[in-house]
Amino acid sequence: MQSFYTSGRLAAVALALLLAGCATSGINRGDFNVVSLEEEWQLGNQTAAEVAKQVRLSRDATLNAYVNRMGQRIVAQTEMANLPWTFHVVEDDAINAFNIPGGHVYVNTGLIRAAGSASELAGVMAHEITHGVSRHGTEQLSKQYGLSTLAGVALGQDPGVVAQIATQVVAGGALAKFSRGAEREADQYGMRYMVGAGYNPNGMVRLFETLKRESGGGGRGIPFFSTHPLTDERIRNAQQQINRMNLPSGLITNDSDFAAVQARAR
Ligand SMILES: [Zn+2]
Repeated sequence: MQSFYTSGRLAAVALALLLAGCATSGINRGDFNVVSLEEEWQLGNQTAAEVAKQVRLSRDATLNAYVNRMGQRIVAQTEMANLPWTFHVVEDDAINAFNIPGGHVYVNTGLIRAAGSASELAGVMAHEITHGVSRHGTEQLSKQYGLSTLAGVALGQDPGVVAQIATQVVAGGALAKFSRGAEREADQYGMRYMVGAGYNPNGMVRLFETLKRESGGGGRGIPFFSTHPLTDERIRNAQQQINRMNLPSGLITNDSDFAAVQARAR
């Protein structure tokens, strides 16, 4: 464990040096050039196989089809629309959702049940998809494990690390904790993708409010908020962005399938 943390720190220094010359503004848009997209997708598929051993994935075809349809619709609005994305439903009462590298997005049944409408679910999915598009997870892992280790992992040279990453993800560990800037980006771009996909971006704000209310104000007992601090500022920022957007008419707040799908989420 000792050497693990030490190498992580050194890697962070190396990464900082590497990134010093290529600062980006706004969304990353896949120009994070340390681990190739191909390597990221390999790593993601290996990690997803490990995650599948550690959580209980829903086999409900109707539920999975709905979540996949919603996810692909949002992904189609992003810079990574041409890459294969996979959406997973986890049978877990904890209100949570997460993204791992390589276009894998996980939504817990507890979150699906807590969402008040299709657009609220779309809000959290758009947020997680944006983490993937911005490659926040890959960036985080590069810092944690070091660049050469991560590249080796993607090439299948270090299955132990893959299992470790999966365990960390399932436990809601460091991979899920991004910077405030990354979270803001996931909210901002997530809402733009929602609008492009035809969903009312107010769904994201409503979801924050719904969950805040359910948790008695502070997000306590809701894993999603231990990694996503739910501050009034965050809600206000999202609302202000929506107010500035020129929203087209006919955006979806809810759809006719949502209630039936929600009832299947257990
Ligand atoms: Zn987030």
